[in-house]
Amino acid sequence: MIIPKESHLTPEQERELKAITGEFGIKLQKISGATRTIYAMVGDERDTLLLRRVEGLPYIDRVDTMMKPYKLMARKSELANHRVMVNGKAVGNGHFTVVAGHCTIDPKNPNAFYETAQAVKEAGGDMLRGGVWKPRTSPYSFQGHHKSIEILMEAKARTGLPVDTEVMDSEQLDIALEAGVDMLQVGARNALNYGLLKEIGRKIHGRSTVVLLKRGMHMGPVDEFILAAEYIVAGGSPNIVLTPRGTLPTLDGYRNHPDESITLLLKERTWAPVLVDPSHSVGKAAYVPFAAMAAASYGADGLIVECHTHPTQGIGDDPKQAVTPEVLARIIRDGRAIHAMLQPSLEGMSLTAA
Ligand code: PEP
Ligand code: MN
Repeated sequence: MIIPKESHLTPEQERELKAITGEFGIKLQKISGATRTIYAMVGDERDTLLLRRVEGLPYIDRVDTMMKPYKLMARKSELANHRVMVNGKAVGNGHFTVVAGHCTIDPKNPNAFYETAQAVKEAGGDMLRGGVWKPRTSPYSFQGHHKSIEILMEAKARTGLPVDTEVMDSEQLDIALEAGVDMLQVGARNALNYGLLKEIGRKIHGRSTVVLLKRGMHMGPVDEFILAAEYIVAGGSPNIVLTPRGTLPTLDGYRNHPDESITLLLKERTWAPVLVDPSHSVGKAAYVPFAAMAAASYGADGLIVECHTHPTQGIGDDPKQAVTPEVLARIIRDGRAIHAMLQPSLEGMSLTAA
């Protein structure tokens, strides 16, 4: 990672730097943070002649060749002060951020989504979630419908809440970006789809769009999860949120194996906000408040929760795991109280915002 002396390089300086790294077969990737721009070297950056030449440039402060596998996501990276913002409001950074809404938007019943959207707002939610396209285990199950993007954006217009939806391929990504979705969700099934991660990274560069990356379903190492996020950030935008959501094998009786406890590790190793998903972790509405409080207890910056005003009338996961707005309001109130209570402990571990 190349760290310039000033917050930005001039175009001539950037050209010179590119020419030098190019000689060594290395691509320069610009990462534009809120206050400064740094440059990642894509390729083998360990050539000592390359390092000397770059560090010798009068406008370069230093070259950071951290041995950590992730250079941009690391808590010690130059991006540590980056704040992930949605609609001018920080995700985490002292505020317990809650994203809530339907697992799946029912294209035949837009009013159900508008009603939930309003209820999420009244319960104190910060953002709205609604699945337009769904990754389903069976190809015969309802796969979502592109028309639901209009319902999602209409709910945003009615409530003023920013919106989150999952994208699984290029076409969905383009539609969601074009519509102005605020937060793109990469689901557990695509968490290691490096082609998709790279494409998202490339396409959100220069935009305010945020990516919520879920942890893959298999019990993979924590660093594998962080490196998946590194793929997106290496595309040029540091607007990333990490979401543990339970892993396989399931803990008998739960939908997955709850993994909110990795939050502390993620916070220790990275600067990214962590929003835990208790809904897919335990998979049953009655268990969700407990998993949500466990997440808050492990220092999460917030939650992404499935919520529906009439869960039994919902589709996708909603009948079994969506909480009602009344329960959501309690989760938000209690989650924020636990979060505030634990601030001194997080500060003690230097895990609050840098
Ligand atoms: C979802 O959020 O509805 C979803 C499908 O999540 P996951 O990718 O975690 O299974
Ligand atoms: Mn779901």
